[in-house]
Formats: sequence, C-alpha cells, structure tokens
Amino acid sequence: MRGQLWDRMTFGPWRRRRWMLRQLRRLDELDAREARAAADRRRPRRSVAQPFRTAVVVCATTAIVVVGLGVLLHREYGLTLTADGLRGPTPLSRPPEVTPGVGSHAFAMTQPGDESRPVTYSPCREVAVVVNDALAPPGSAGLVEEALAEVSAATGLRLVLEGTTDEPAAERRELRIPERYGDRWAPALVAWTTPEQVPGLRGDVAGLGGSSAFELGVLGRLRYVSGTVHLDAPAMATILARPDGRDLARAVVMHELGHLVGLDHVDDPRELMYADNVGVTGFGPGDREGLAALGSGDCL
Ligand SMILES: [Zn+2]
Repeated sequence: MRGQLWDRMTFGPWRRRRWMLRQLRRLDELDAREARAAADRRRPRRSVAQPFRTAVVVCATTAIVVVGLGVLLHREYGLTLTADGLRGPTPLSRPPEVTPGVGSHAFAMTQPGDESRPVTYSPCREVAVVVNDALAPPGSAGLVEEALAEVSAATGLRLVLEGTTDEPAAERRELRIPERYGDRWAPALVAWTTPEQVPGLRGDVAGLGGSSAFELGVLGRLRYVSGTVHLDAPAMATILARPDGRDLARAVVMHELGHLVGLDHVDDPRELMYADNVGVTGFGPGDREGLAALGSGDCL
C-alpha cells in the first residue's frame, strides 16, 4: 500500500509524464549548452594583441606600396614625392621663342602613333659629347665647340663637351660602353675620320650624324640616348682651305649636330638642313623651329 500510495502521490502516470518531460527538457538544455561550449572551443581565440598585429601588417603593407610607387614614379617619370605633392623634373633651360611656320623642318623620328611629336633627348639632362680629334685637320680647332654652342642655344638642350677620346669611329656603336665610359649611356661621339674608316662618307659626303632612340618608361616613349657625328677629315680640310672655309666647315658640323638632336633633311635650300651644302652658314627659320621643338621634349 505504501508503495502504491507513494507511487500514486508522487509518480502517478500524469505526474510521471510531467517529470519525464521536465527531465527531457533539462537534458535538451544541457545538450545545447554543451554544443555552444564546443563551438566556442573550435572558434580561434582572439588575443588582445590581434588588432595591434593587424594594424602593423596594414601599416607595413601601405608603406611598402607607397615606397614602391614612389620608386616607380621616380624611375619611370622622374617624379619625386614631396610634402607638397608630386614634383617633376624641370628642363635645364628652355629653347628660345621662334616664329612658327616661316620655314621648313622635318624630324628624323617621331613617337609611335603620333607624328607631331618628335623623338628627343631629355631636356632635363645634359647631353654628354666626346670628340676624337686625332685626325682633325689644321684650322679646325674650336669648330666643334662653336657648333655645339649654336645647337645648345637653338634647342635649349645642354650639349656638354666632356673631352677627347680615342674611341675609333665605326659605323655601328653600342649605346653603352662601360669599359670606356662607365655605367651610363655612352656619350655622343664626334669623330674626325675618313671614308676608309666610315664608308658612308665616300663620295661628296662631308659628314654624317644621327642618334639612337631607346624605349623608356611603361608608356613606351622613345628617347634619344646617344649618337654619333662623323666628320670627313680630308673633305673638311679642303673646305677649310677656302677663304670662307671656317664658316662653311662650322656649318657642316652644325648640320650634323642638327641630325644628332633629331632633325632630318628638308627640300628648302634656305635651311641648313638642306641635304647639300649650298653656302648656308647658319640655321634658317625652319631649322630653328624644329630645333626648338627638339629641345621641348618631356623629362622622362
Ligand atoms: Zn645631312
């Protein structure tokens, strides 16, 4: 009886069901709590130092990107990042004002896809020149210097005579000759030579001149980096022997330096860049317009 009463009062069918349901709910709650605890254990722990480390990584990455961008801009475009912003290189000097359209000029080479833009030397760097004067004829002293001064004045470029060299004249020349000139573009070579050394001077050719362009920068712009002028020493000696020989001989050197900085021949005999020497001893208006344009390139 005691057992039945006790059973009926505390564990009768209805109460037992409620008790069972309560126990099951409690078990469910315990299961859910255990599942949350397990999920927390699986989640990576975030220490107090984690945000600090993230900030350091972001700062370091930003610094690397900024420095890399600065180096790229400097190498490719000569731009420098300053506190005032980006600063570009400036030309060493400017070409003189010219009257456009009163003469003829032509460029030896133009930028790919843009025939109005000539290939030029950088106006922000000196154009180094060396002279091989071993075969220079009598009376030619100072001719190259005078012609360089004329072309520098007409272009605004700084054509700087570094000195003499014993580099022999040759029809082909490397743009870099480190064993002779160090780790840089070879300076432009003005060489007094002969048709035997440079066959292009055979016939009535008194001189040859020109420059080589190199593709610089990610934009693929062409830039003259070095060049040569070959002067036919025997032919120039004949010219120098004439009464007006010195002016004519200087004009020959100026014509070839005109080629060196990027001018081509024109059909107008009033211009010094006319293919034949017809007695013109100075740059004409078209020559000067072209030379001013060749001194106005950008400063890549
Ligand atoms: Zn010529």
